[in-house]
Amino acid sequence: MKITVIGYWGAYPEAESATTCYLLEKDGFSCLLDCGSGALSRLQNYIDIMEIDAVLISHYHQDHIADIGVLQYSWLVQSYLRDSKQILPIYGHEEDKASFQKLTHQCTKGIAYDPTKELQIGPFHINFLKTAHPVPCYAMRVSDGVSTMVYTADSSYIEDFIPFTKDADLLITECSFYENQDGSVAGGHMNSKDCATIARNANVKELWLSHLPHFGDRKELKIQVEKYYNGKIELAREALTWEK
Ligand SMILES: [Zn+2]
Ligand SMILES: [Zn+2]
Repeated sequence: MKITVIGYWGAYPEAESATTCYLLEKDGFSCLLDCGSGALSRLQNYIDIMEIDAVLISHYHQDHIADIGVLQYSWLVQSYLRDSKQILPIYGHEEDKASFQKLTHQCTKGIAYDPTKELQIGPFHINFLKTAHPVPCYAMRVSDGVSTMVYTADSSYIEDFIPFTKDADLLITECSFYENQDGSVAGGHMNSKDCATIARNANVKELWLSHLPHFGDRKELKIQVEKYYNGKIELAREALTWEK
């Protein structure tokens, strides 16, 4: 599978960038993982919006879903222009009924995933783990039969991340705070040491730090993680890709 960072900020996008959004691709199938603010604009540097086959949502905070509305408008406009009858499936959990219902529009259909079961979307098999966050949110373990990627979504540190992430080829963690800050009291997030602890104890091969903060020197996040984890580390940025 190939993974491309489309958006990597927490909370809001800075200029010319987006909040959380990743593009997952395999054998011509394309799935968006979260669709934050600015994502639709940045995404068009990498793919035709009508070529997206599915969208998968971790939770209903705006920095993960803000561009779902304009994605729906873009499909509506393009379906007229191209005389297309395509419907885009958007997978989300049902624990927030009002937000789930908004996934359905003229050209999109909300599909509830059952987080206790494995979900298949195209070539991807996805397992879920409920995170520690102020609203229901799910981490995801995505496999295509060749490689495995784990995405923490938003969460403060929980021990369950270790078995859930075990031996993953790539781990994408949210990294909202620096080592000396307690992310768990600030809205259910992790600091750099929490990210390193998961990566090291779960024996992951590569770690991406994402959902980045708007303060401090973000290069320090990577330096802090390097003290505890020996694998490859990347600070998420737009167009960063991984393929295996
Ligand atoms: Zn977030
Ligand atoms: Zn959140």
